[in-house]
Amino acid sequence: MDAELLRQYLEFYQDLGIKTLYRQAPPARAVAAAPPETPAIAAKTVIAMDLPPLAPTNDTLFKIIEDIGDCRRCRLHEGRSKIVFGVGNPESPLVFVGEGPGADEDAQGIPFVGRAGQLLTQMIENTAKKEGIEILRKDIYICNVVKCRPPENRNPEPDEMEICGQFLHRQLSVIHPKAICALGGVASRALTGHKEGVTKMRGKWFKWQDIPVMVTYHPSYLLRQYNQDAKREAWEDLKKVLHFVYD
Ligand code: URA
Repeated sequence: MDAELLRQYLEFYQDLGIKTLYRQAPPARAVAAAPPETPAIAAKTVIAMDLPPLAPTNDTLFKIIEDIGDCRRCRLHEGRSKIVFGVGNPESPLVFVGEGPGADEDAQGIPFVGRAGQLLTQMIENTAKKEGIEILRKDIYICNVVKCRPPENRNPEPDEMEICGQFLHRQLSVIHPKAICALGGVASRALTGHKEGVTKMRGKWFKWQDIPVMVTYHPSYLLRQYNQDAKREAWEDLKKVLHFVYD
């Protein structure tokens, strides 16, 4: 690979916030050093590899699924049953992004189908109805930061989010919604780059690239009995995002 192409790749991945590149299949051949004009990049070793295409032109959700394939790029593949890519209307002006699949999602291959998912569906559909907005869950798009279930439902590790993040980035670029709703701290931090807790960030607008991002609580947090105030706040956040998108 020539130096200019390598520089473009590194710049592209740096723009995505990816600092570490992993090789998937062929054996590594360490390249002596990045060319001197290569911008400072956190990756310590540059590896000759079969890189996925640069921001693919005419990318589609189908191509992303193909590229994910039977993914083994990070340790999360070890315990998964199904890759949970995303569900809903690929032309939706609104995308909800969660953290990662739980047990029900892992079994079915569909995001937000367990208890938290049922609450999310209710929240979306009931709030929309009350606000006179005619949408159902099937009309929006839902996905997660990581596509494989973390063991014991732990938070995804930074490297797992970084590796899987390239696919979320491509999903959001293809759909290019009018707004994104980040559910919980993991998704909020992954999308906005802000490090505050969700209680500080919720109800406010941030940006992912040029797209407004509303941060709110994760529905599993709202399932806990003692979080009834948070539930009310999440409803307010949802109203804001629905009116922004559909008014
Ligand atoms: N929690 C998430 O963050 N995503 C899901 O798909 C299910 C539960």
